[in-house]
Amino acid sequence: MNTKFMLTCSDCGKTFSPSPELYLCPDCSKSNNTGLPPKGVLKAIYDYEAIGKSNEVAIRNNFWDLLPLNYKTSLPKLRVGNTPIYKFEKIDGESVPFGLYLKDDSQNPTFSFKDRASSVVSAYAKENGISTIVAASTGNAGSSLAGICASQEQKAIIMVPKSAPQAKLTQIVMYGATIVPVDGTYDMAFDLSIEATQEFGWYNRNTAYNPLTIEGKKTVSLELFLQLNRAIPDYIFVPVGDGVIISGVYKGYEDLLRIGLIDRMPTIVAVQAAGSSNLIDNIGKTDFTTKPSQTIADSISVDVPRNFYMAQSFIMQYQGEHLPVTDEEIVEASKILARNTGIFAEPAAATAYAGMLRYNKLNKMHSKQKVVVLLTGSGLKDLKAISSIVNIPNAIEPTLDALKIVF
Ligand SMILES: [Zn+2]
Repeated sequence: MNTKFMLTCSDCGKTFSPSPELYLCPDCSKSNNTGLPPKGVLKAIYDYEAIGKSNEVAIRNNFWDLLPLNYKTSLPKLRVGNTPIYKFEKIDGESVPFGLYLKDDSQNPTFSFKDRASSVVSAYAKENGISTIVAASTGNAGSSLAGICASQEQKAIIMVPKSAPQAKLTQIVMYGATIVPVDGTYDMAFDLSIEATQEFGWYNRNTAYNPLTIEGKKTVSLELFLQLNRAIPDYIFVPVGDGVIISGVYKGYEDLLRIGLIDRMPTIVAVQAAGSSNLIDNIGKTDFTTKPSQTIADSISVDVPRNFYMAQSFIMQYQGEHLPVTDEEIVEASKILARNTGIFAEPAAATAYAGMLRYNKLNKMHSKQKVVVLLTGSGLKDLKAISSIVNIPNAIEPTLDALKIVF
Protein backbone atom coordinates (compact mmCIF):
# COMPACT_ATOMS: atom_id res chain seq x y z
CA MET A 1 0.00 0.00 0.00
CA ASN A 2 1.45 3.32 -1.03
CA THR A 3 0.01 6.42 0.59
CA LYS A 4 2.68 8.85 -0.53
CA PHE A 5 0.85 9.89 -3.67
CA MET A 6 -2.47 10.01 -5.47
CA LEU A 7 -3.21 10.02 -9.18
CA THR A 8 -5.18 12.82 -10.74
CA CYS A 9 -6.64 12.86 -14.25
CA SER A 10 -4.99 15.49 -16.42
CA ASP A 11 -8.27 15.95 -18.30
CA CYS A 12 -11.20 15.82 -15.82
CA GLY A 13 -9.26 16.40 -12.60
CA LYS A 14 -10.71 13.37 -10.75
CA THR A 15 -8.41 11.84 -8.16
CA PHE A 16 -7.71 8.15 -7.67
CA SER A 17 -5.76 5.94 -5.26
CA PRO A 18 -2.86 4.40 -7.15
CA SER A 19 -2.75 0.73 -8.03
CA PRO A 20 -0.71 -1.22 -10.57
CA GLU A 21 -3.90 -1.94 -12.53
CA LEU A 22 -4.78 1.73 -12.91
CA TYR A 23 -3.26 3.38 -15.98
CA LEU A 24 -5.64 5.90 -17.57
CA CYS A 25 -8.64 7.69 -16.05
CA PRO A 26 -11.47 5.16 -16.50
CA ASP A 27 -13.94 7.90 -17.46
CA CYS A 28 -11.87 9.95 -19.87
CA SER A 29 -10.24 6.98 -21.60
CA LYS A 30 -13.60 5.44 -22.58
CA SER A 31 -13.74 7.17 -25.93
CA ASN A 32 -10.03 6.79 -26.75
CA ASN A 33 -9.29 5.31 -30.11
CA THR A 34 -6.12 4.45 -31.93
CA GLY A 35 -4.83 7.15 -34.22
CA LEU A 36 -5.44 9.89 -31.68
CA PRO A 37 -3.54 10.78 -28.50
CA PRO A 38 -5.19 9.20 -25.44
CA LYS A 39 -7.29 11.21 -23.02
CA GLY A 40 -7.18 10.55 -19.30
CA VAL A 41 -3.42 10.34 -18.72
CA LEU A 42 -2.89 10.39 -14.96
CA LYS A 43 -0.49 12.58 -13.02
CA ALA A 44 0.96 11.73 -9.60
CA ILE A 45 0.41 14.29 -6.88
CA TYR A 46 1.88 14.43 -3.41
CA ASP A 47 1.12 16.17 -0.14
CA TYR A 48 2.88 19.31 -1.34
CA GLU A 49 1.82 21.36 1.65
CA ALA A 50 3.38 18.96 4.14
CA ILE A 51 6.56 18.53 2.06
CA GLY A 52 6.76 22.30 1.54
CA LYS A 53 6.81 22.89 5.29
CA SER A 54 10.23 21.30 5.44
CA ASN A 55 11.79 22.10 2.09
CA GLU A 56 15.30 21.73 3.34
CA VAL A 57 14.55 18.25 4.65
CA ALA A 58 13.18 17.38 1.20
CA ILE A 59 16.47 18.51 -0.32
CA ARG A 60 18.54 16.61 2.24
CA ASN A 61 16.54 13.48 1.42
CA ASN A 62 17.25 14.06 -2.26
CA PHE A 63 13.52 14.62 -2.90
CA TRP A 64 12.60 11.11 -1.79
CA ASP A 65 9.21 12.46 -0.62
CA LEU A 66 8.45 13.35 -4.23
CA LEU A 67 8.88 9.79 -5.52
CA PRO A 68 5.98 7.28 -5.66
CA LEU A 69 7.92 4.58 -3.81
CA ASN A 70 7.95 3.22 -0.27
CA TYR A 71 11.49 1.84 -0.03
CA LYS A 72 14.78 3.04 -1.45
CA THR A 73 15.85 -0.60 -1.64
CA SER A 74 13.22 -1.16 -4.36
CA LEU A 75 15.35 0.87 -6.78
CA PRO A 76 17.92 -0.86 -8.98
CA LYS A 77 21.51 -1.22 -7.77
CA LEU A 78 22.69 0.42 -10.98
CA ARG A 79 23.36 4.14 -10.76
CA VAL A 80 20.43 5.80 -12.52
CA GLY A 81 20.34 9.57 -12.89
CA ASN A 82 22.82 11.84 -11.11
CA THR A 83 24.27 12.38 -14.54
CA PRO A 84 26.91 15.05 -15.13
CA ILE A 85 26.23 18.61 -16.20
CA TYR A 86 28.93 20.53 -18.07
CA LYS A 87 29.34 24.22 -18.84
CA PHE A 88 30.90 24.99 -22.21
CA GLU A 89 32.14 28.46 -23.14
CA LYS A 90 32.93 28.07 -26.82
CA ILE A 91 31.50 26.59 -30.00
CA ASP A 92 34.00 26.28 -32.86
CA GLY A 93 36.30 28.84 -31.23
CA GLU A 94 33.59 31.45 -30.73
CA SER A 95 32.46 32.48 -27.28
CA VAL A 96 28.93 31.44 -26.39
CA PRO A 97 27.13 34.63 -25.35
CA PHE A 98 25.23 32.95 -22.49
CA GLY A 99 25.77 30.21 -19.92
CA LEU A 100 25.55 26.95 -21.86
CA TYR A 101 25.01 23.82 -19.76
CA LEU A 102 24.82 20.33 -21.19
CA LYS A 103 23.09 17.65 -19.14
CA ASP A 104 24.56 14.38 -20.34
CA ASP A 105 21.99 11.66 -19.79
CA SER A 106 23.79 9.24 -22.06
CA GLN A 107 25.68 8.45 -18.82
CA ASN A 108 22.84 6.28 -17.55
CA PRO A 109 23.29 2.48 -17.26
CA THR A 110 21.76 1.70 -20.67
CA PHE A 111 23.03 4.97 -22.15
CA SER A 112 19.77 6.88 -22.30
CA PHE A 113 17.49 9.15 -20.29
CA LYS A 114 14.84 6.40 -20.30
CA ASP A 115 16.53 4.65 -17.37
CA ARG A 116 15.01 7.28 -15.11
CA ALA A 117 11.51 6.06 -15.98
CA SER A 118 12.38 2.35 -16.12
CA SER A 119 13.94 2.53 -12.69
CA VAL A 120 10.86 3.99 -10.97
CA VAL A 121 8.45 1.68 -12.86
CA SER A 122 10.56 -1.37 -12.03
CA ALA A 123 10.79 -0.37 -8.35
CA TYR A 124 7.03 0.19 -8.14
CA ALA A 125 6.42 -3.22 -9.74
CA LYS A 126 8.75 -4.78 -7.17
CA GLU A 127 6.86 -3.16 -4.30
CA ASN A 128 3.66 -4.62 -5.73
CA GLY A 129 5.01 -8.13 -6.23
CA ILE A 130 4.98 -7.93 -10.03
CA SER A 131 7.76 -9.72 -11.89
CA THR A 132 6.93 -9.21 -15.59
CA ILE A 133 6.94 -5.80 -17.27
CA VAL A 134 6.07 -5.13 -20.90
CA ALA A 135 6.87 -2.04 -22.98
CA ALA A 136 6.49 -0.82 -26.50
CA SER A 137 9.39 1.29 -27.57
CA THR A 138 11.13 2.99 -30.46
CA GLY A 139 14.27 1.41 -28.99
CA ASN A 140 15.57 3.35 -26.02
CA ALA A 141 12.73 2.71 -23.57
CA GLY A 142 12.89 -0.98 -24.49
CA SER A 143 16.63 -1.34 -24.10
CA SER A 144 16.36 0.62 -20.89
CA LEU A 145 13.59 -1.51 -19.39
CA ALA A 146 15.47 -4.65 -20.45
CA GLY A 147 18.64 -3.51 -18.67
CA ILE A 148 16.93 -2.28 -15.54
CA CYS A 149 14.85 -5.48 -15.28
CA ALA A 150 18.02 -7.56 -15.68
CA SER A 151 19.44 -5.79 -12.63
CA GLN A 152 16.24 -6.31 -10.64
CA GLU A 153 15.57 -9.99 -11.35
CA GLN A 154 12.47 -9.05 -13.33
CA LYS A 155 11.31 -10.25 -16.72
CA ALA A 156 11.00 -7.69 -19.52
CA ILE A 157 8.97 -8.15 -22.70
CA ILE A 158 9.79 -5.56 -25.33
CA MET A 159 7.79 -4.78 -28.47
CA VAL A 160 9.71 -2.71 -30.99
CA PRO A 161 9.24 -1.77 -34.62
CA LYS A 162 11.56 -4.07 -36.59
CA SER A 163 13.23 -0.94 -38.01
CA ALA A 164 14.66 0.06 -34.60
CA PRO A 165 18.45 0.64 -34.64
CA GLN A 166 20.56 -2.52 -34.35
CA ALA A 167 22.39 -1.41 -31.19
CA LYS A 168 19.15 -0.97 -29.29
CA LEU A 169 17.82 -4.35 -30.47
CA THR A 170 21.14 -5.93 -29.49
CA GLN A 171 20.97 -4.42 -26.01
CA ILE A 172 17.47 -5.81 -25.48
CA VAL A 173 18.60 -9.32 -26.43
CA MET A 174 21.83 -9.16 -24.40
CA TYR A 175 19.97 -8.02 -21.28
CA GLY A 176 17.95 -11.23 -21.56
CA ALA A 177 14.58 -9.67 -22.30
CA THR A 178 12.02 -11.26 -24.59
CA ILE A 179 12.08 -9.19 -27.73
CA VAL A 180 9.05 -9.03 -30.01
CA PRO A 181 9.87 -7.14 -33.20
CA VAL A 182 6.69 -5.82 -34.79
CA ASP A 183 6.23 -5.50 -38.52
CA GLY A 184 4.88 -1.98 -38.25
CA THR A 185 5.41 1.38 -36.59
CA TYR A 186 6.05 2.29 -32.96
CA ASP A 187 2.41 3.32 -32.75
CA MET A 188 1.31 -0.19 -33.77
CA ALA A 189 3.69 -1.79 -31.25
CA PHE A 190 2.26 0.54 -28.59
CA ASP A 191 -1.33 -0.54 -29.21
CA LEU A 192 -0.36 -4.23 -29.31
CA SER A 193 1.46 -3.99 -25.97
CA ILE A 194 -1.63 -2.52 -24.33
CA GLU A 195 -3.81 -5.31 -25.66
CA ALA A 196 -1.23 -7.80 -24.38
CA THR A 197 -1.25 -6.15 -20.94
CA GLN A 198 -4.98 -6.72 -20.67
CA GLU A 199 -4.75 -10.24 -22.06
CA PHE A 200 -1.76 -11.54 -20.06
CA GLY A 201 -1.90 -9.39 -16.93
CA TRP A 202 1.65 -8.00 -17.26
CA TYR A 203 2.63 -4.62 -15.86
CA ASN A 204 2.98 -2.03 -18.64
CA ARG A 205 5.73 0.59 -18.77
CA ASN A 206 4.47 2.45 -21.85
CA THR A 207 4.96 6.15 -21.62
CA ALA A 208 1.81 8.26 -21.35
CA TYR A 209 0.02 5.13 -20.22
CA ASN A 210 1.84 4.21 -17.05
CA PRO A 211 1.69 7.41 -14.97
CA LEU A 212 4.92 6.63 -13.13
CA THR A 213 7.18 7.10 -16.15
CA ILE A 214 6.71 10.86 -15.71
CA GLU A 215 7.74 10.51 -12.07
CA GLY A 216 11.00 8.91 -13.12
CA LYS A 217 11.62 11.45 -15.84
CA LYS A 218 10.99 14.41 -13.58
CA THR A 219 14.07 13.51 -11.51
CA VAL A 220 16.18 15.30 -14.12
CA SER A 221 14.65 18.63 -13.07
CA LEU A 222 15.20 17.93 -9.37
CA GLU A 223 18.82 17.18 -10.19
CA LEU A 224 19.22 20.31 -12.32
CA PHE A 225 17.88 22.37 -9.42
CA LEU A 226 20.66 21.06 -7.16
CA GLN A 227 23.40 21.03 -9.80
CA LEU A 228 22.76 24.67 -10.72
CA ASN A 229 22.83 25.67 -7.04
CA ARG A 230 19.10 26.25 -7.01
CA ALA A 231 19.17 28.65 -9.96
CA ILE A 232 16.25 28.32 -12.38
CA PRO A 233 17.52 27.95 -15.94
CA ASP A 234 16.23 30.58 -18.37
CA TYR A 235 15.85 28.02 -21.14
CA ILE A 236 15.83 24.23 -21.23
CA PHE A 237 15.96 22.65 -24.68
CA VAL A 238 14.27 19.25 -24.74
CA PRO A 239 13.95 16.81 -27.66
CA VAL A 240 10.31 15.90 -28.17
CA GLY A 241 8.64 12.83 -29.65
CA ASP A 242 5.57 11.63 -27.78
CA GLY A 243 5.74 14.41 -25.18
CA VAL A 244 6.65 12.39 -22.12
CA ILE A 245 10.19 13.60 -21.45
CA ILE A 246 9.10 17.22 -21.74
CA SER A 247 6.15 16.55 -19.43
CA GLY A 248 8.57 14.96 -16.98
CA VAL A 249 10.85 18.02 -17.08
CA TYR A 250 7.84 20.27 -16.48
CA LYS A 251 6.51 18.02 -13.72
CA GLY A 252 9.80 18.17 -11.82
CA TYR A 253 9.82 21.96 -11.84
CA GLU A 254 6.10 22.10 -11.08
CA ASP A 255 6.67 19.92 -8.01
CA LEU A 256 9.44 22.31 -6.92
CA LEU A 257 7.07 25.21 -7.46
CA ARG A 258 4.35 23.53 -5.42
CA ILE A 259 6.63 22.90 -2.46
CA GLY A 260 7.82 26.49 -2.67
CA LEU A 261 11.47 25.92 -3.56
CA ILE A 262 11.17 27.98 -6.74
CA ASP A 263 8.92 30.90 -7.58
CA ARG A 264 8.86 30.73 -11.37
CA MET A 265 9.19 28.14 -14.10
CA PRO A 266 12.02 27.95 -16.63
CA THR A 267 11.14 28.52 -20.29
CA ILE A 268 11.12 25.04 -21.73
CA VAL A 269 11.68 24.75 -25.47
CA ALA A 270 10.20 21.72 -27.21
CA VAL A 271 12.36 20.78 -30.17
CA GLN A 272 10.95 18.32 -32.69
CA ALA A 273 12.35 16.94 -35.91
CA ALA A 274 10.59 18.72 -38.77
CA GLY A 275 9.77 15.30 -40.24
CA SER A 276 8.00 14.27 -37.03
CA SER A 277 6.45 17.40 -35.58
CA ASN A 278 2.97 16.12 -34.74
CA LEU A 279 3.13 17.39 -31.18
CA ILE A 280 4.11 21.00 -31.75
CA ASP A 281 2.02 21.28 -34.93
CA ASN A 282 -1.15 20.53 -32.98
CA ILE A 283 -0.65 22.86 -30.02
CA GLY A 284 -3.69 25.09 -29.58
CA LYS A 285 -5.66 23.44 -32.39
CA THR A 286 -9.19 22.13 -31.86
CA ASP A 287 -8.84 19.01 -33.98
CA PHE A 288 -5.79 16.78 -33.73
CA THR A 289 -4.33 15.89 -37.12
CA THR A 290 -1.31 13.72 -37.78
CA LYS A 291 1.08 13.08 -40.61
CA PRO A 292 3.41 10.09 -40.97
CA SER A 293 6.85 10.68 -39.40
CA GLN A 294 10.03 10.57 -41.36
CA THR A 295 13.23 11.55 -39.57
CA ILE A 296 16.68 10.14 -38.83
CA ALA A 297 16.02 10.84 -35.14
CA ASP A 298 14.37 7.45 -34.60
CA SER A 299 13.68 7.77 -30.90
CA ILE A 300 11.51 10.84 -31.41
CA SER A 301 9.86 9.58 -34.59
CA VAL A 302 6.24 9.32 -33.55
CA ASP A 303 2.98 9.57 -35.51
CA VAL A 304 0.69 9.95 -32.50
CA PRO A 305 2.34 11.77 -29.60
CA ARG A 306 0.92 9.78 -26.72
CA ASN A 307 1.32 12.44 -24.09
CA PHE A 308 0.08 15.23 -26.33
CA TYR A 309 -2.60 16.61 -24.02
CA MET A 310 -0.43 16.77 -20.92
CA ALA A 311 2.51 18.25 -22.83
CA GLN A 312 0.24 20.79 -24.48
CA SER A 313 -1.27 21.83 -21.18
CA PHE A 314 2.18 22.27 -19.57
CA ILE A 315 3.47 24.25 -22.59
CA MET A 316 0.42 26.51 -22.62
CA GLN A 317 0.24 26.98 -18.85
CA TYR A 318 3.93 27.83 -18.45
CA GLN A 319 4.50 29.72 -21.72
CA GLY A 320 6.74 27.11 -23.25
CA GLU A 321 8.23 27.59 -26.69
CA HIS A 322 8.68 25.18 -29.55
CA LEU A 323 10.35 24.76 -32.90
CA PRO A 324 11.04 22.15 -35.57
CA VAL A 325 14.55 21.48 -36.87
CA THR A 326 15.40 19.68 -40.09
CA ASP A 327 17.30 16.41 -40.32
CA GLU A 328 20.18 18.38 -41.88
CA GLU A 329 20.29 20.63 -38.83
CA ILE A 330 20.19 17.58 -36.55
CA VAL A 331 23.13 15.92 -38.29
CA GLU A 332 25.08 19.19 -38.31
CA ALA A 333 24.29 19.74 -34.62
CA SER A 334 25.47 16.28 -33.74
CA LYS A 335 28.83 16.99 -35.46
CA ILE A 336 29.20 20.39 -33.81
CA LEU A 337 28.34 18.96 -30.41
CA ALA A 338 30.73 16.02 -30.68
CA ARG A 339 33.73 18.00 -31.95
CA ASN A 340 33.30 20.80 -29.41
CA THR A 341 32.51 18.83 -26.30
CA GLY A 342 33.49 15.19 -26.64
CA ILE A 343 29.85 14.24 -26.14
CA PHE A 344 28.61 11.98 -28.91
CA ALA A 345 24.81 12.17 -28.84
CA GLU A 346 22.25 10.22 -30.81
CA PRO A 347 20.20 12.18 -33.38
CA ALA A 348 17.23 12.65 -31.02
CA ALA A 349 19.50 14.24 -28.43
CA ALA A 350 21.27 16.33 -31.06
CA THR A 351 17.81 17.64 -31.97
CA ALA A 352 17.70 19.60 -28.70
CA TYR A 353 21.20 20.95 -29.39
CA ALA A 354 20.09 21.95 -32.90
CA GLY A 355 17.23 23.91 -31.34
CA MET A 356 19.69 25.74 -29.10
CA LEU A 357 21.93 26.52 -32.10
CA ARG A 358 18.95 27.99 -33.97
CA TYR A 359 17.99 30.16 -30.99
CA ASN A 360 21.61 31.28 -30.74
CA LYS A 361 21.63 32.29 -34.40
CA LEU A 362 18.52 34.35 -33.77
CA ASN A 363 20.23 35.97 -30.74
CA LYS A 364 17.39 34.92 -28.48
CA MET A 365 19.62 34.30 -25.49
CA HIS A 366 21.95 36.73 -23.78
CA SER A 367 24.62 36.99 -21.13
CA LYS A 368 23.72 36.06 -17.57
CA GLN A 369 21.13 33.61 -18.88
CA LYS A 370 21.50 29.96 -18.04
CA VAL A 371 20.62 27.66 -20.90
CA VAL A 372 20.40 23.90 -20.48
CA VAL A 373 20.36 21.37 -23.30
CA LEU A 374 19.10 17.94 -22.38
CA LEU A 375 21.16 15.26 -24.12
CA THR A 376 19.06 12.16 -23.85
CA GLY A 377 21.01 9.33 -25.45
CA SER A 378 24.37 8.10 -26.70
CA GLY A 379 25.39 8.34 -30.35
CA LEU A 380 26.70 4.78 -30.19
CA LYS A 381 23.07 3.62 -30.05
CA ASP A 382 22.46 4.60 -33.65
CA LEU A 383 25.55 4.65 -35.86
CA LYS A 384 23.62 4.09 -39.07
CA ALA A 385 21.79 7.42 -38.83
CA ILE A 386 25.01 9.37 -39.25
CA SER A 387 26.94 6.91 -41.39
CA SER A 388 26.61 9.15 -44.45
CA ILE A 389 28.71 11.88 -42.82
CA VAL A 390 31.37 9.64 -41.31
CA ASN A 391 34.29 9.27 -43.71
CA ILE A 392 37.03 7.06 -42.39
CA PRO A 393 40.16 7.42 -44.56
CA ASN A 394 41.79 4.47 -46.28
CA ALA A 395 44.54 2.66 -44.40
CA ILE A 396 48.13 3.72 -45.06
CA GLU A 397 51.36 1.68 -45.09
CA PRO A 398 52.75 1.73 -41.57
CA THR A 399 55.76 3.82 -42.61
CA LEU A 400 56.83 7.37 -41.89
CA ASP A 401 56.95 8.09 -45.63
CA ALA A 402 53.31 7.11 -46.04
CA LEU A 403 52.40 9.21 -43.02
CA LYS A 404 54.21 12.21 -44.54
CA ILE A 405 51.81 12.07 -47.48
CA VAL A 406 48.93 12.51 -45.04
CA PHE A 407 50.50 15.45 -43.16
ZN1 LIG B 1 -10.60 11.91 -16.36
